Amino acid sequence: MHIHVTYTGGTIGMVDSPRGLVPGADPQGRFDTVLKEAEQRVGSISLTALSPLIDSSDATPESWQRIIDDLRAGASDADAFVVLHGTDTMAHTCAALSYALTGLDRPVVVTGSQLPLGVVGSDAAPNIAGALHAAASRRAQGVSLFFGHRLLAGNRAVKASSWAFDAFDSPAVAPLARAGAPWRWAPAPPRGAGWPDPRPYTRQDVVVIDLAPGITAARLEAMLTPRPDAVILRAFGVGNIPDGEPGLTDVLAGAIGTGTTVVVTSQCHHGEVRLGRYASGDALARAGAVGGADMTPEAAYAKAVFLLSQGLRGAELAAWMGRSIAGELDDRPGGA
Ligand code: ASP
Repeated sequence: MHIHVTYTGGTIGMVDSPRGLVPGADPQGRFDTVLKEAEQRVGSISLTALSPLIDSSDATPESWQRIIDDLRAGASDADAFVVLHGTDTMAHTCAALSYALTGLDRPVVVTGSQLPLGVVGSDAAPNIAGALHAAASRRAQGVSLFFGHRLLAGNRAVKASSWAFDAFDSPAVAPLARAGAPWRWAPAPPRGAGWPDPRPYTRQDVVVIDLAPGITAARLEAMLTPRPDAVILRAFGVGNIPDGEPGLTDVLAGAIGTGTTVVVTSQCHHGEVRLGRYASGDALARAGAVGGADMTPEAAYAKAVFLLSQGLRGAELAAWMGRSIAGELDDRPGGA
């Protein structure tokens, strides 16, 4: 078994500086001991460090593409992949990789840590060991995220804690596996329709809008000017908006009418959008918004960027937002 590791940056490899934590020099040396030790259990391991190494709060669709290119370049030799990544936007990256890599028949496991490798009490070494174990298991599929003893579906994950060692959750679906002696695996989840030969990610005009009580039509209009290609609306509960606020729904209907795709997700940790359940959500459906089912806002954002990068717009884009590409939502009839 040969595992290729792509190191992208993040706390896991950071060192102290007068400005706070920054990616450290000599990545090969930094991970050498932990990877050498793991080689005895999983086989051979190679490592590439992307340049520049970044704090994942600086990640962009171009950074997602750099990771994809590195994985594809290693695909002729590797049986499985591990990506070392910062936690702040790990969920976005996992979702982005999942859409672009449905054609890769080998698992990709993404991990990071809350404390840098080498710091006393750090979660970095156990997370790397767990990610390598999952990658080598011959049970992991697609893109998953290992953190704090659990393997989660990458495009279902959310960062739930800025400090805890079990920093990630996948609120809509059960963990894929729990580390232990032995590991406990759940049945493999549905995989989605796939996307053969995707075009590279490029930056797109997608805006995420979080509703709050008291938002006015004028403020929403300003947020949507000039018109973006897509909006990920983080609405209340099952996908409700303040429909009683004069002009608010009209602003969204106007944006949809001029070609903006509006995707409704929920602010709830356990969110399942059902636009017809209340009049305030029904208004959104009548305006032409798409319900994001049980998709996380992170997965919805990365998906809109993916589909726009493929050249989709309008009705075609809206239809794919509601259809599972890589298991990111439950699109079965009677599902979420
Ligand atoms: N800011 C860091 C990053 O996302 C946080 C982390 O890695 O935990 O790169």
